Amino acid sequence: MTPLGQRLAETIRRDGPIGVDAFMAAALGDPEHGYYQTRDPLGAAGDFTTAPEISQVFGEIIGLWLADQWASTGSPDPVQLVELGPGRGTLMADLLRAMAVLPAARKAIRLHLVETSPVLRERQAETLQRFHPDLTPRWHDTLDTVPPGPLLMVANEFFDALPIRQFQAENGGWHERLIGLGDEDDFAFTLGPAADPPVPPPPAVDGAIFETAEPGLAVAREVGKRLAAAPGAALLIDYGHGRTAVGETLQAVRAHRYAPVLADPGLADLTAHVDFAALAEALADGGAASFGPVTQRSFLIANGAAQRVAALTHSKAPEPAAAISHAVARLLDPAQMGSLFKVLAATSPGRPVPSGFQRGSAAE
Ligand code: SAH
Repeated sequence: MTPLGQRLAETIRRDGPIGVDAFMAAALGDPEHGYYQTRDPLGAAGDFTTAPEISQVFGEIIGLWLADQWASTGSPDPVQLVELGPGRGTLMADLLRAMAVLPAARKAIRLHLVETSPVLRERQAETLQRFHPDLTPRWHDTLDTVPPGPLLMVANEFFDALPIRQFQAENGGWHERLIGLGDEDDFAFTLGPAADPPVPPPPAVDGAIFETAEPGLAVAREVGKRLAAAPGAALLIDYGHGRTAVGETLQAVRAHRYAPVLADPGLADLTAHVDFAALAEALADGGAASFGPVTQRSFLIANGAAQRVAALTHSKAPEPAAAISHAVARLLDPAQMGSLFKVLAATSPGRPVPSGFQRGSAAE
């Protein structure tokens, strides 16, 4: 067992089973042994790859979308540009380059990065220093310390990394699903006392599992409040479902393969599908208007993915041109990232429908 596993096992022996949220929070965020605290997990040598690491087109399209929102909200100067969970800083570097199509927008930016990992903060600093040395990013542990005011925000694969709770249907009621110790002192799921999930679950048969993500909903509520108080827009991109649904989605990934979720806490990435309907409701609770989610494919195509690929491949030799097209195809292909990944937009209330969305549109 990992050192973090031993500590969690001691806690369970002493105090009884813990929630999936406590397990996940420790596995990902423990200051000493947490997965994100100790490594850069991204890319071929790491555990998983994300859209901005696959193609620059992803960040460029988001940058154009944000620049458009900035212009249509009265060109606020200054504007707080915030990214939640910026990874290696690749998405931010790409979107800033694209935002420079509106030099006044690029100049109005005050950059804020919400990131808990010291390793990734360092990567972000390097990337941004290299490509955008005129900006002085400020780092935050949470959104709360970002100054108020006009806001542009993006989060890619951030919400899937926040702790979830699991509930299991039994005899017509719900019980929280907890993590205790099995016969061989390994971690094992167990049922807690009867407890209603904090988000109303759809009808479910016995044995069904329902997941809720309060920390993510609290962040979305805060984003909603900020967009209600000042002009702005946000894009929340992640993998998940458009409607609240039952189903167990907690997964562990290590070296680009699925791993058992309870083995080796701290050594594997743990994520769960995002419930976009619940996120949209939390944004609305805060006072923002929300749009979508639409599929990543539909968002990128509607915002010019094909044109951007044409521009990038135009004067390239066949091989590099094919590599660019192939990378973007991975983002668009419904069998790869095009359909499971979804994009939810939020704006200040009373704004026109943002580019790539329709009023009331939803993806499954
Ligand atoms: N957006 C990046 C990275 C996604 S990985 C990309 O698309 O490549 C998840 C990111 O969220 C990492 O940067 C991780 O360190 C950060 N993160 C995870 N949990 C966090 C938390 N509770 N608060 C702030 N950042 C967190």
